[in-house]
Order: sequence, then C-alpha cells, then structure tokens
Amino acid sequence: MKLRLDTELCQGHGRCYSLAPELFSCDDEGQAVLLVEGEVPADLEAAARTAVDNCPEYAIGTE
Ligand code: SF4
Repeated sequence: MKLRLDTELCQGHGRCYSLAPELFSCDDEGQAVLLVEGEVPADLEAAARTAVDNCPEYAIGTE
C-alpha cells in the first residue's frame, strides 16, 4: 500500500496527523505533510486506512 496526499484538497483539519502521527505531520499552517515515501510499513496499514477514512476533504488516498 502507498499513500498519496493531495495538498490542493487538504484544508488542515488535522485529523490525519492526530489519528496517524507515524504517517502524517503538518507544516506551519497546519496543512498535512506525508511522512512516508513509498510502501507503507505493514504495521501501519491500519492507521493509514483510518486516516484515509477520516479525511473530510478526501485529500488522502491509497494506491
Ligand atoms: S485530515 Fe485531510 S484535510 Fe485534514 S489535515 Fe489531513 S489531509 Fe488535510
């Protein structure tokens, strides 16, 4: 599983980095920053799905 983040859609609600701080951080304006490049480690896949399911802007997806 890989994560993608559409920074155009992100509105900085912060759910992703609250729910999955191993995978997401934020910049100075609160916009999400993806911390993992490439494959998501197997033990973080559940957290990745939680973040995807809880982004109100549909800015996070998997591929
Ligand atoms: S949950 Fe979605 S909208 Fe909110 S900071 Fe994360 S990517 Fe951006």
